[in-house]
Amino acid sequence: MTERKVRITLDGDAVEAEEGTTVLEVARSLGRSVPTICYHEATTANAVCRICVVDVRGQRLLQPACVLKAADGMDISTRGERVERARRTILEMLSSTMDLSEADEIIGMMQEHGAHADRFPGARRRETPLIDDNPMYVRDYSKCLLCWRCVQVCAEDAQYTFALSFDGRGYDTQIGTFFDRAIPQTTCVLCGQCVAVCPTGALKSKREHLLESGLTPAEVTTQATGRRRRGTRGQPGTRAGSRRGAQ
Ligand code: SF4
Repeated sequence: MTERKVRITLDGDAVEAEEGTTVLEVARSLGRSVPTICYHEATTANAVCRICVVDVRGQRLLQPACVLKAADGMDISTRGERVERARRTILEMLSSTMDLSEADEIIGMMQEHGAHADRFPGARRRETPLIDDNPMYVRDYSKCLLCWRCVQVCAEDAQYTFALSFDGRGYDTQIGTFFDRAIPQTTCVLCGQCVAVCPTGALKSKREHLLESGLTPAEVTTQATGRRRRGTRGQPGTRAGSRRGAQ
């Protein structure tokens, strides 16, 4: 069956695209730059971060390109002052409320869009203790922007283990486990896919974390092998007992 084509205008150019294609896909196929943060090719797009918003003529609100399907007659601008202002504000709100020190791509976006890290000096920052409760990875939700990628790869998008989910409400929402359990007490199989898709360093391999903490590669290996041997006999540790501040 032949795919139906739709005709749109993108930044002034007449473009044909297959029906069902998102505006982000069309723009990228033409080499146009549209920034994304929560979007990842391996996960279902959910328009969580809104950094990819575009201006569609006739629509009051900016639309997220990652989920917006191209439709006949759409006249879309991926640039312009309205779009730029929205992207800049999103970046400024992120930098005012969380630790972006390891989010190189986002720091690059801030420079590109002229975003000021100190735009909202009174904002409440997300500050939580690092969680070190398993042999595979550590979690530092001070660096989490709630992009949802880790939850998605842990669920239907890849692993089907459902160990991670949203926790809390409103401003206090964060990624967590059911009943706030330590990772070894959840369905987590330590596959590492959540670490691989995290864009900010909020999830980090234990090895990398230990090296950054000043341990030598030999010391890291000793710790890892010692932990594995102990792990065959002992009970998994509790999350509360393994937080950095509690050690
Ligand atoms: S931990 Fe990382 S991948 Fe998960 S929601 Fe936060 S920033 Fe996204």
